[in-house]
Formats: sequence, C-alpha cells, structure tokens
Amino acid sequence: MVAFPDEAVDPRRRVPRTDVVLADPRLVSAASRLGPVVVKQAVGTAQARARRGEIVPEAVADAAVDALPTAVTTLRRVLNATGVLLHTNLGRAPLSAAARTAIEVAAGTCDVELDLATGTRGRRGAAAVAALRDAVPGAAAAHVVNNGAAALALVATALAAPGREIVVSRGEMVEIGDGFRIPDLLAATGARLREVGTTNRVHLDDYAAAVGSDTAFVLKVHPSNFVVTGFTRSVDVADLGGLGVPLVVDIGSGLLQPHPLLPDEPDAATALAGGATLVTASGDKLLGGPQAGLLLAGPGPGAELVERLRRHPLARALRVDKLTLAALEATLRGPEPPTVSALGADPEALRARAARLADRLTAAGVDAEAVANEATVGGGGAPGVTLPSAAVALPEAYAAALRAGDPPVLARVRHGRCLLDLRAVQAEEDDLLLRCVTSCR
Ligand SMILES: *Cc1c(COP(=O)(O)O)cnc(C)c1O
Repeated sequence: MVAFPDEAVDPRRRVPRTDVVLADPRLVSAASRLGPVVVKQAVGTAQARARRGEIVPEAVADAAVDALPTAVTTLRRVLNATGVLLHTNLGRAPLSAAARTAIEVAAGTCDVELDLATGTRGRRGAAAVAALRDAVPGAAAAHVVNNGAAALALVATALAAPGREIVVSRGEMVEIGDGFRIPDLLAATGARLREVGTTNRVHLDDYAAAVGSDTAFVLKVHPSNFVVTGFTRSVDVADLGGLGVPLVVDIGSGLLQPHPLLPDEPDAATALAGGATLVTASGDKLLGGPQAGLLLAGPGPGAELVERLRRHPLARALRVDKLTLAALEATLRGPEPPTVSALGADPEALRARAARLADRLTAAGVDAEAVANEATVGGGGAPGVTLPSAAVALPEAYAAALRAGDPPVLARVRHGRCLLDLRAVQAEEDDLLLRCVTSCR
C-alpha cells in the first residue's frame, strides 16, 4: 500500500470538523461573549469557504475568528456631526454617563418595585417621579409613561374618551414625524376634537365659545417642529387656564425650566405656574434623557387627575421599564446630560476645537479647514432657532466614506463640502472623530 501524503488528499476532505474548530480557545471565549449561535455561524461560513477552495483548511479557525461580529446587537454607535442636536434618526438625546451607569445597575435584578426597608412591595417609579418633582417644584404630582405620544393618549383616553371633546387650535394640529399626527392620535382614543381658530390665528373668544358641557379639556400643543410667522396669534397658557375646564399643555421638548437661549420654547415650570392642569412632554428631547413621556400636574385638580391616569387600565400598557426609570432619575439628579451641554456650548470653544482639528488633519495630509456653521436643536424643539457653531470642512466625498466608517460619522453636506459640525460632538470625542477622518483615505 502506498500512503498518499496529506497534500495529495482533496483539500475539501481536510476541512476540520465543527467541534474541532469550536474548541479553539478564541472561539470558546467568543461563544461566551456572543452566544454559540453566532460563533457556529461564523465557523460554518469559514468551512464553506474552505470547501470552495477560497481558503486553506488550516485557516478555518482564523477565518471564523475574523468573521465574528464585535457584538450581538446590530445597532451601532454613530458620531453625530450633523449640527442637529436632537437627531431623531440617531436616537435623539445621547444619555449622560450617569444615566448609562444607572441603566447598567437596573439591568440586573433591582429594587424597582420593592421597599428594601420593609421587604414589601414598593411603588414602581417612585424615585424617578420624586426626581421629577424636585426638578419642577411647582408640580404637585407626576407620572412617567413610554413617550410623549403615550402621555397624550393616556390623558385623552382617561379624560375624554369616549365621545367627549378636546378643544384644540387649528394652528396646533401638529404632525410629529414619520406620518404620525397628534390629532389622529387623539381621535384614535375615541375622543372628539373640537377645532378652534384658523391656521394662523386663534383668540381666547374662540376657545370660550367652544367650551361647553361636552368639553373634557382644552389642549395647547407646542408647534415644536415648525414656525408660523406674519399675521399670527395664539393664546397664552395663563389665559386658557381661566376657561373653567382642565387645561392640558403639551410642551413637547421636556424643558423643565426656562432656558435663556430658547426664550420661545415652553417649559413645564412656567406652564404649571401659568395655570396648566397637566403638562405633557418627552424625556429624550431637550431634557436629554431616555425616551419617556412625562406627565406633571399643577396644584389643585391636577394631582387627582394624575392619580386617575396612574390607575387607568391603559396606564399598564404604557408603563416604562426599569431601564428608563433608572436613566430618567439619573438624568434629573446627575450631571448635565450631553444635549444640555451641547445646547449651552460656548461658540468660541467650538471654534477653537474646529481649528485644532483642522490643523491636525491638515498635518495628516487631509484637505481640512475650520469654518463657521449654524447648528439647530432639531425636530425635538426650538423650531427656527439657530445656534452659532463651528465645523471642519472636508471634500464632499468624505461624507459617504465617513458614514461607512467605524464608528460611522454622520456629517452634513453643504455647498459641495462635507461639514463636521462640532456642537453635537462631545469634546472627548474629538480624537475619535479625527481618527475616523484619517482612516477614510
Ligand atoms: C415630540 C413631540 C410629541 C411626541 O413625543 P414622543 O416622545 O416623540 O412620543 C408630542 N408633542 C409635541 C409637541 C412634540 O414636540
């Protein structure tokens, strides 16, 4: 018998067995990190490549290791260099480090609904609600639901459905985004909408004439993603509060106190002081926290209404998870979240960062220049407001290359240039941004 040397055997027959490859220590450790399914898939793909002759059989384990994803989630971190602080497609507000830590803790078993002192059931979300009330001292009660739309749905369902009227101005019939409209949302609850005024003008008399025995509440909605200018008029919260029916104010962005840079953006404290019975808002816009719907009550009937909302059957379907409660509390009690820092960033400091980055990029052979730019808050609020900002301008082709990078960078293309606006980029991310650009070439 002549023994054929190994090399003479069809290489496809030398493809190592799956269990042999899986015993590779790198794949064993990957399996504990990523799970066995993902690792087996990578091994299967590598074996198939070896059978097709694309790689030598001895390289199967290496190829499987190379093909492993870095994580089991497909969501990727993206650097927001668009100059839009609250970019809906990028998940709105980035969370503070404190909020991320809180999520990490809450992710395990935690006392979300347990009173550790007595060992009995505790009130779910009490800590986040307390933080909210501390942040808005005028709030007599508060409740947290899944998002701003959920807050409105709960209020409309509990107070106006079925068949009672919500009085709302025609100028405040807002489409929020992705085709969703507040009037449709309210109508879907079974409440009836009673529209008053016109697109551009509404008077207190219009509201007064519409309010009657069928009125559940008057709703004032902040037009948070558009501005109507010219011959316009709307009615202040303070005037609407005197109509003898509950007044619900949807402020949208979640500013809890007035912000000096956004004088036209409504805030919860002012709305409550002005006589709002209930205020609704989002948690992941200008508050800079997790996706959540905030419900705050003024003194008087508001507190009792919040209790009704809390106990309504639908409240259970709209309740937030422990991760949200943890992140919200940390956002409210902890250091300033990135969105708030970005909003308040000093334009001079932004210019200095852009100049430094442009210098370093130029030194690395990149055609880069620091330029003045204008940032915006985005769909999350303050329509029409521009914030002086600074950007690094690159040739336009960088925009697509940066988006394909790791991590991807989302830039803005203007006048044939790729602009990296720094207002929504945290200063600690500048080095990473620089590496993203230099690794593009
Ligand atoms: C954003 C917004 C909403 C919707 O809030 P979500 O948290 O996105 O559900 C409702 N009303 C106004 C005025 C808004 O700006």
